[in-house]
Amino acid sequence: MNFANFVQRQRAFFQSGATRPLDFRRAQLQALSAALVRHESPLLAALQSDLNKSPLQAYASELGLVQAEIRHAVRQLRRWSAAARRPTAWFSAPARSWIQPEPYGVALLFGPWNYPAQLILAPLVSAIAAGNCAVVKPSELAPRTSEAVAALIRETFPEEFVCAVEGGAEVAEALLTERFDKIFFTGSTRVGRSVMAAAARHLTPVTLELGGKCPTLVCADAAVELAARRIVWGKFLNAGQTCVAPDFVLVDRAVSEPFIAALKKNIRRFYGDDARCSPDYGRIVNARHFTRLAGYLTDGRVEHGGAHDAAERFIAPTVLTKVDPSARVMQEEIFGPILPVLEFDGLEEALELLRGRPTALALYLFTRNHATERRVLAEVPSGGACVNDTVSHMIGGALPFGGLGPSGMGASHGRAGFEAFSHSRSVLRRALWLDTPFRYPPQKLSLAVLKRAMGFLLSD
Ligand code: NAD
Repeated sequence: MNFANFVQRQRAFFQSGATRPLDFRRAQLQALSAALVRHESPLLAALQSDLNKSPLQAYASELGLVQAEIRHAVRQLRRWSAAARRPTAWFSAPARSWIQPEPYGVALLFGPWNYPAQLILAPLVSAIAAGNCAVVKPSELAPRTSEAVAALIRETFPEEFVCAVEGGAEVAEALLTERFDKIFFTGSTRVGRSVMAAAARHLTPVTLELGGKCPTLVCADAAVELAARRIVWGKFLNAGQTCVAPDFVLVDRAVSEPFIAALKKNIRRFYGDDARCSPDYGRIVNARHFTRLAGYLTDGRVEHGGAHDAAERFIAPTVLTKVDPSARVMQEEIFGPILPVLEFDGLEEALELLRGRPTALALYLFTRNHATERRVLAEVPSGGACVNDTVSHMIGGALPFGGLGPSGMGASHGRAGFEAFSHSRSVLRRALWLDTPFRYPPQKLSLAVLKRAMGFLLSD
């Protein structure tokens, strides 16, 4: 596999300046939006086939979010791409200073399989809005969606502007031998690390949207019933295969009984007595992940659910209790419909359980107490967080979405996505009518005068 040729063609297209005008970018975003409408049926069918997403779920969590990202970008493009004035230090005066967002050039985008349309197309929206060319590689583990996304891209964009490459690890590795100007990767921490190592060879900047275990803390003063409902929603969406799904729950022993009862009640309310029959409940992506997840079912007491069927890749929404913190299900990212619930006595013990864990992509806290909220947010770092909810902080374009440390670096969504694909170039334009001589050699100032002057000259 040799991708040198078309990367070169994309770079030539970028260097022609074609992607710079805002009108061009807007037109391409609108073309993508129209293509999403035209390709809606094959995309929805592919998502149903790959992950058993109902058309409603697929639209709400995939296509609808991409359309929202497009609308937001089209509306905000002028503001995001405008030069931002900055003050100039006296040393350089008279002059004007500003920051100009510049497209990087040719961007490489990798997508995961869990939201296989949204998580490749939403970053593409940001890449186009910022004026880049893009090579897009959807996940091979959602093969029908990968095919449908590639078909949409082929039909909508000239190859020298945006193109799709399908395939697995070998294709990804071959792509990474080329020099790109930006890499945007969404996937696992393990692969993210090797993507960053490959990017280092060309000193290509990266955004890494990775995974990990998202802890959820339910305090004694939480609104227990509501907490359970919101946790069940965030956890079992897409059968738990969501990077920001609550991975495990720590619940204060004082409320653990009503909390677990409320979890069970809400699971039944959402998915019925047999989730297999629910149109709103997904399937595990493949046999390997099914086997991995089924292995966790013995890591605690099955309090609810536990039913599973390899032929259908079905695992019922499951609550595990009596789980040892050193069990595998508490060490690895679950990424499936199994929710371990561990008890703690008082906030101090909960914080002790969380300290030293790898920094999570999201942290969820259920409490009515602002002092508890401040303390937990201050003591437990994470990429993002919700108080009294799950997942919602990543919906909408206003909040940057990203991880920290092992859960990622950089951010996406809305303006943050635009910035992920832009270089902030600092520019100073000096006036011609005055040229203060003091900076030029031979230097006549004494050191004492210089010291006094620098305080003034470097301020603005
Ligand atoms: P993955 O890392 O296995 O694959 C992601 C992408 O990388 C795929 O396109 C894959 O083909 C490609 N890839 C595979 N091997 C590669 C290699 N050697 N070099 C370069 N690329 C390679 O991840 P996945 O299993 O598709 O997704 C699940 C993970 O993604 C979970 O950890 C989840 O938490 C995380 N995730 C994170 C976010 C986020 O926004 N932070 C969103 C969704 C999923």
